[in-house]
Amino acid sequence: PSKGKPMRRFPKSSKLDNVLYDVRGPVVDEAARMETDGTSVLKLNIGNPAPFGFRTPDEVVYDMRQQLTDCEGYSPAKGLFSARKAIMQYAQLKGLPNVTIDDIYTGNGVSELINLSMSALLDTGDEVLVPSPDYPLWTACVNLAGGTAVHYVCDEQSEWYPDMDDMRAKITDRTKAIVIINPNNPTGALYPREVLQQIVDIAREHQLIIFSDEIYDRLVMDGLEHISIASMAPDLFCVTFSGLSKSHMIAGFRIGWMVLSGNKRIAEDYIEGLNMLSNMRLCSNVPAQSIVQTALGGHQSVNDYIVPGGRIYEQREYITEALNSIPGITAVKPKAAFYIFPKIDVKRFNITNDEQFALDLLREKKLLVVHGGGFNWHEPDHFRVVYLPRIEVLKDAVDRMTDFFGHYRQ
Ligand code: PLP
Repeated sequence: PSKGKPMRRFPKSSKLDNVLYDVRGPVVDEAARMETDGTSVLKLNIGNPAPFGFRTPDEVVYDMRQQLTDCEGYSPAKGLFSARKAIMQYAQLKGLPNVTIDDIYTGNGVSELINLSMSALLDTGDEVLVPSPDYPLWTACVNLAGGTAVHYVCDEQSEWYPDMDDMRAKITDRTKAIVIINPNNPTGALYPREVLQQIVDIAREHQLIIFSDEIYDRLVMDGLEHISIASMAPDLFCVTFSGLSKSHMIAGFRIGWMVLSGNKRIAEDYIEGLNMLSNMRLCSNVPAQSIVQTALGGHQSVNDYIVPGGRIYEQREYITEALNSIPGITAVKPKAAFYIFPKIDVKRFNITNDEQFALDLLREKKLLVVHGGGFNWHEPDHFRVVYLPRIEVLKDAVDRMTDFFGHYRQ
């Protein structure tokens, strides 16, 4: 710096002031530091199937290898015709009304499209109803786009379904949309038709857009059926998100999509905005788009994981029972995805700050979980466990927790 002048600093944009994304936040940074120091950490914090031995189906890898040289250039902004046609057929099979190929957008994971869909919609002060707990990218993207995420509570006493009275009470003149995450991360809840109908009724009464994140729609257990809320709302404008990260164990390939359906006329201007942002990012990863048709059409190996004897099913059975057997911990059995969101008896352990609890667990037991606050849960009494590791590993994790809670702050 020139003499006498103070050193110029570069603070981050104030747009980030209300943005939180703790799934990869300070507790994870501490875990990384510990690992750099040579400590091995058991990580139950990220829903990433590959490191836990869930492999990409062979036909998908083969397909990409064959097509790689055809994928050197950009695709159309919304994606390759073959991918969008397969997604359109998938959407039609799930009963999404009034969907054409123009209503399908591929993205670098659902993540990119969550960001894009909020950026194209929101002005400062616009409100979006987002669940609490949520997958925190939703809250982050609403706030980053200048809107305000208003949280409606999901009720642990009722299978973690949304509390409809709370949802209604949170609607104002500025509310533009309702977000649902179904199946849910972090609770593992799956919403039945009656619950979805009540959400549709609220959206209809207040003329709201419905955004439905359904990335876990093929990871549903106990013979239950996943229902896309858009299939019940032909008169409303709905945006439905899904992708291959979880169902095909290819989170690293980065491929997801969103589907517009129902009453598109009321959203003509918004759709113009979506198209502009979609054009601006040129296109999503083309090799990953090239395998969508094969992935959606072929043998669904994920089905073998979610039935009795399958890994995800058996791991869920184990973790639910094991967590509930720790004194001071209770957990609702998840019906879908691969997360469980246990409750801590905070009085018993004198816990007032759940991030501190997660740090203490990490430092003492070398075990990494995400505290409830990371999912916009406003009480310090929950944490999320990813139950993707094999049962032997989960057992090790539960032993560490049992030991930890056996003496923590008592
Ligand atoms: N939505 C939910 C509910 C998720 O849990 C995740 C990832 O964990 C995503 C979206 C992002 O997925 P993608 O890999 O498609 O970006």
